[in-house]
Order: sequence, then C-alpha cells, then structure tokens
Amino acid sequence: MSCRRWLLADQLGPHFLDDSDQQVLLIEARELFRRRPMHRQKAHLILSALRHRAAELGDRALLLRTGTFREAFDRLAEPVEVCHPHSRAAMRFARSVPGLAVLPARGFITSPADFAAWAEQQRGPLRLDDFYRHALRRHDVLSAPAGDVSTRRPPRATDATRPVPPPPPVVEDDIDAQVRHDLDRWAADGVRFVGRDGPRRFPATHAEAEARLAHFLRHRLPEYDRYAEVMSAHDPLLAHSGLSSSFHLGLLDPRPAVRAAERAWRDGPAPRAAVELFIRGLLGWREFLWQLYWYVEPRLRGAGWPAATEPLPQWFAELDADAVEARCLADVLATVRDTAFTHHVPRLLVLGNYALQRGWRPAELVDWFQRSFVDGTDWVMNATVLGMSHHAEVSAVETRPYAVDGTYIDEISDYCAGCRYSPERALGDLACPYTGGFEMFLHRNRGRLVDDPRLAAELIRRDEPEHRDAVLAQEEKRGSTAP
Ligand SMILES: Cc1cc2nc3c(=O)[nH]c(=O)nc-3n(C[C@H](O)[C@H](O)[C@H](O)COP(=O)(O)OP(=O)(O)OC[C@H]3O[C@@H](n4cnc5c(N)ncnc54)[C@H](O)[C@@H]3O)c2cc1C
Ligand code: SF4
Repeated sequence: MSCRRWLLADQLGPHFLDDSDQQVLLIEARELFRRRPMHRQKAHLILSALRHRAAELGDRALLLRTGTFREAFDRLAEPVEVCHPHSRAAMRFARSVPGLAVLPARGFITSPADFAAWAEQQRGPLRLDDFYRHALRRHDVLSAPAGDVSTRRPPRATDATRPVPPPPPVVEDDIDAQVRHDLDRWAADGVRFVGRDGPRRFPATHAEAEARLAHFLRHRLPEYDRYAEVMSAHDPLLAHSGLSSSFHLGLLDPRPAVRAAERAWRDGPAPRAAVELFIRGLLGWREFLWQLYWYVEPRLRGAGWPAATEPLPQWFAELDADAVEARCLADVLATVRDTAFTHHVPRLLVLGNYALQRGWRPAELVDWFQRSFVDGTDWVMNATVLGMSHHAEVSAVETRPYAVDGTYIDEISDYCAGCRYSPERALGDLACPYTGGFEMFLHRNRGRLVDDPRLAAELIRRDEPEHRDAVLAQEEKRGSTAP
C-alpha cells in the first residue's frame, strides 16, 4: 500500500496523488496566516481549497488544524511523503522532518534535468524566448505549420469595454461560510488582513477550475491576443483567464491545459495567435520562472537600481485606493483591494512601474505582491518583480527595467481621459505623476541607461537642464505621497 501523502495547500489537484485510495495528510497551520498580513480573500481561497479537498477525500484524508507544521508532525506516528514543495521555506521544513520522503515536483511540465541541460547549452544570459522555443519542440506543442497566423488589429484601449463574456461566477457553499466565520473570528482575535472581504471569485476545487478553464477556452481565448497588452477601467480582466490561482493551488494540471488550448486552435474557435500567446504564458513564462527559482538564486546587487531604498508608503501597503487621485493607480489599487487580483499589465506598468520610479525597496514590494494577490507566490515573484519590474540583478538572466511614462499608459488604456492629470505633462499642477516620475527615474539612473537604447533616447529627449531641475524638484517634493 502507498505511503500517506502530505498535500501542501498548493498541491490540491488529482495529479498530486498516485492512486484513488491513497491516504492523505492535510495541515491547516495558523502560522501561515498570522506571520504577515495577507489579503483577506487570499486567506479565504487557500482555506476554502484545503477544506474542500479534505471534504472530497472523506475518510482518506487526515486534516490536522495546528499552530505550525512542526506541531502536526510531532503528533504523527506513521511514515509520510510529500511532493517537492513550491517554496524554499517549505522545502527547508520538509528536509528537516525526520523520515519525511520528498518526491519529485509535480504540477510543472519541464523537468529540472531538462531545464538544466538546456540552460547549460546557452551562451550568454538565459532568455525566455529561447526557453519557450525549446519547450515547444521538446513537448511537441504547436508543431503543425500555422494555418491562420492572425494579423488582427490590436484594439484601441477605448474599444476595450467587455470584449468577452466574464467567467461564470463560482458559487459559495457551507465550507465557504465556515471559512468566513473562522476568518472573522481570527480577525477579532488580532490576526491582521489587508484588502476587503467579498464573495469568493476564484475556483477552490478541481471541478470549479476545470469548468472555468473550459469556459475560457471556448468563450475568451479567441480574443486573448487582442486584449493581452491593454487595460480598461471598465473590465479589469478583459480576455485573461484568471486561472493563475488555480494553477498555483495545484487544482489544474498545466499539461492537459496546454493540450486543450492547442485543440481550441486545431478544432475549435481560437486563432493560432491567441493560443500561441496563452501557451507562451503557461508553457513559457510559468515554467521558466519556476525553473529559475531553483536553478539560480536571485540576488539583489545592492538594492537593485540606485536609490531603490524608500519604504513602501502606507497608503500603498494598505491598499488605500481612496487616498489616490491618479485614475489608473486608484482604479488598479481598488481592484486589488476588492478582488486580490489584477492582470499582468496593471501589475507591471501601474504598480511595479510606480514603485520603480519612486525608488521603493524591491524586497518590500515582493512581499507586498505576494501577500496581496490570490496568485502571489515566492517563485514567480522573485524573478518577476526583482528581474522585470525592478531590473535588479538576477544572475545569468536577461532582464530589463519596465519604466514608462503617462503617455504610454494613455496609449494602452482608457484611464487618462477621466483623470485629473494630463499624461503629456511632466511639470505643473496637471503633471502626470507617471510622466514626472519617469523623468526623475531617467535622471537619477542616467549612468546605467547606456545598455538600454529606449531609455537612453528618452533621457536625451528630456534632458534640457532647466526643465530637468524643475521636474526633479517637483517629483522629489511629491516623493511617495499618494498622487
Ligand atoms: C509585478 C508582477 C508580479 C507578478 N506576480 C505574479 C505572481 O505572484 N503569481 C503569478 O502567477 N503571476 C504573477 N505575475 C504574472 C502575471 O501577471 C500573472 O500570472 C497573470 O496576470 C495571471 O492572470 P491570468 O491567470 O488571467 O493569466 P493569463 O494571461 O490568462 O495567462 C495564463 C496563465 O499563464 C501563466 N502566466 C502568464 N504569464 C505569466 C508570468 N509572467 N509569470 C508566470 N506565469 C504566467 C499563469 O499561470 C496564467 O494563469 C506577475 C506579473 C508582474 C508584472
Ligand atoms: S494621466 Fe497619468 S495618472 Fe492619470 S490616468 Fe493617465 S497615466 Fe495615470
């Protein structure tokens, strides 16, 4: 008979078990929720998923409610095994438990050995695009010639009002009611959360996640490429899948999801360009970041870019969107406060970009993203925030800083028309905080821009001394106050 398997809260789908009568250990350790203030809806989703899994498994599951993982193992007198945990901290813990066998990782497509072999063949920095091409070949995905490479016009941001039907809502049940009751009690006992409570918006079971994936493939994927790089005040999800938390909780196995997306092109309604972009996220980005997390240790050289030494201001840390007048930032912060989610573009260009311009400490930003988003995880965060948003040193990996001004946000969104600031202006009462902040970033980092032709050209364009001194004085005065 197989050994009892410990399922961590991000290993909850059927692909983390070997057979249909395997005994399971689930641990609900309160320390996870007490250590640092987590978004209330993230705490709800994790607890709900864990308890739903225990209910599905019935007598096969032993659910222990403890203060810490260690307490749970102190109580157990039988051998237990676990699949490779998904964070360094959990791995350290697993290795410290006498007799706990650690099995290879599940929930990812590329094996560590395959990644290492690929990485060793690379000359120069590791690049996502090279890895993605390798993964397509290695797993024989999208190998047939492109019949219909789409040349569709990307939408103007202002077209972007509800282009696709929203995902069907998940329906809460008695388990969710009990979770809400427990979280209210913990909050009354002094456990701190950020964000607002609200109906559960993301799948907590394999069945719910499968249903959302099926709906996405049929109704939303066909428009995915057209809306992937824009933002809209009218629709915070656009044609994104909203499935990242389902992959992270382990509810969905990415391998069949990639195959299903491929079928949506071959036999279904989705154009190849849309499917290719979606698969690039799942088979490319997600796998690349996971492997990097274990393959290279991200290191901050100093504090990333010079001057990235400011603490996160309280209004940002506490998701106080009402304190903000800048329309894009207020809207994105409110979306995070109310839903614990926003898609890739606002994360990078509204949240990460602002933090980069203002010199906020990368490590605090990583921690904030991780606690405030339903899908926030250590392994995505390290490389994404440190490498992309903050362009800190991630050894051996190609990174670029994502700094843009208000005119770029205006091009890809419908925010600026309703804002009290003007995206073209860097100076004066109407100066857009992103445009002034962008110029401040260029001037403060001028010595490092030689490697980035786009930013170097922007600096030359905006380097008139009188203008520069006025912008620096204005933006240094604005500092990290809510814009
Ligand atoms: C500053 C910053 C922080 C981020 N933090 C996280 C995080 O903690 N966890 C997280 O999963 N993603 C993170 N991302 C990546 C990306 O924003 C989310 O994966 C995506 O928005 C999830 O929404 P979705 O499921 O609708 O994605 P879709 O656009 O529908 O993409 C499909 C799937 O592909 C995968 N994927 C796509 N892009 C990425 C990516 N860049 N990195 C990893 N997986 C990707 C996800 O599993 C996603 O569900 C971050 C991005 C930025 C810029
Ligand atoms: S003008 Fe500036 S602050 Fe206002 S919405 Fe546009 S980019 Fe954001």
